[in-house]
Amino acid sequence: MRDSYDCIVVGGGPGGAWAAKHAAENGVSVLLLEKDREVGIPVRCAEAVSEKGLKTVVEPQPRWISNIIEGFVIVSPDGREVAIDTGKERGYMLDRKIFDYDLVQMATMNGVEVMTKAYVYDLIKPNGTVEGVRVQHMGEHHDIRARIVIGADGVESRVGRWAGLRTNIKMKDMESCLQMTLSNIKVDPKYIYFYLGRDVAPGGYLWIFPKNERVANVGLGISGEYARYKSAKEYLKEFIGRHFPNAAVLYTVVGGVPCATTLKKIVADGLMLVGDAAHQVNPISGGGITTAMIAGKIAGGVAAKAIAEDDVSENRLSQYARDWHKAEGKNHERTYKIKQAVYKLTDEDLNKTADTILSVPLEKRTLANIFRTALFRHPSLILDVVKVFMTK
Ligand SMILES: Cc1cc2nc3c(=O)[nH]c(=O)nc-3n(C[C@H](O)[C@H](O)[C@H](O)COP(=O)(O)OP(=O)(O)OC[C@H]3O[C@@H](n4cnc5c(N)ncnc54)[C@H](O)[C@@H]3O)c2cc1C
Repeated sequence: MRDSYDCIVVGGGPGGAWAAKHAAENGVSVLLLEKDREVGIPVRCAEAVSEKGLKTVVEPQPRWISNIIEGFVIVSPDGREVAIDTGKERGYMLDRKIFDYDLVQMATMNGVEVMTKAYVYDLIKPNGTVEGVRVQHMGEHHDIRARIVIGADGVESRVGRWAGLRTNIKMKDMESCLQMTLSNIKVDPKYIYFYLGRDVAPGGYLWIFPKNERVANVGLGISGEYARYKSAKEYLKEFIGRHFPNAAVLYTVVGGVPCATTLKKIVADGLMLVGDAAHQVNPISGGGITTAMIAGKIAGGVAAKAIAEDDVSENRLSQYARDWHKAEGKNHERTYKIKQAVYKLTDEDLNKTADTILSVPLEKRTLANIFRTALFRHPSLILDVVKVFMTK
């Protein structure tokens, strides 16, 4: 470890790995700091991605994929199953332990240095500009300098706050998630299931994502607004008791997902935020793996150019914010509006929507059609629905 680098990335998740890889690929020296003892663990994820989404950021490797998903089913509050036609689009269940590890390994192939068990506890910021980090590693404290620090430190990010950015989120937009990996169950491994309804997952949804026919990630996210009345744990235990009474729990995950729009400011002098730290998650699905990687790629590229031009000012780094907005951020704003309208639907509305959709032949039951049907009383949102689902 040196005492200075061109760029330091805090966090070894998909966003951090991809930012580090692309900064190094563009010719700057990069150090990636990860507080856990190993990249990829603990896993705090349901591990689902769309094949198309993943392919936009990296060529999928068979060793990352534990299962291939061919379709999905939405279960209405009154228990009816609405299968959705995904056409030729498939999904993957990743093994994130391997996936995250490999992404960081790919970054090292570009010259990125990695330090695990390296807990960043503050920024070096003498005159308002971020100039490095303070890190604790194996009981020792180090100051490491950098022209640019990229905060990819996840949903509990503190890097942005230390830099003076406003990173708070409305309680209703922070999904409180709990997931259990269940074994000794029987599921169709080709389908993922989403359950809706106030009694199952208020202000969110419950998922069953199979890893194989006997094992699945079963979890739920409920809006922070409801979590104070009844916890995610109570909702999940009730569901598992009803649907999988003989299941054994292999693994339990607790975590938050910021289902909001991107933070207003994701750059400052000498600083960029990426991934969950910047709230770059799809506000409806809660999926943030590929979006963190898209942001990481853009941020890494802009960071390298800014360093080469010797201009790491907020103004120069704002190119990253603009490019992110074009790539995904604008889409997330539309998705967020749709989410707000969808979550206002009562169970009765959702049941009626299921009625209407079930009368449509399966090959015409696309996601865009479903949202259009669900939101038929919100004509102003129809254009957003079309843009979200047709332009991606
Ligand atoms: C229960 C649950 C289910 C989910 N399911 C899905 C899903 O199916 N599909 C999907 O696409 N997304 C899912 N997500 C969201 C997804 O996990 C995240 O959006 C994604 O991991 C974001 O990547 P990231 O790199 O921004 O952050 P992370 O993957 O969270 O990585 C951040 C890293 O920073 C490290 N770190 C934090 N603070 C410090 C510090 N001070 N010093 C050093 N290192 C630090 C952490 O240890 C961590 O390794 C789920 C989330 C949860 C909670």
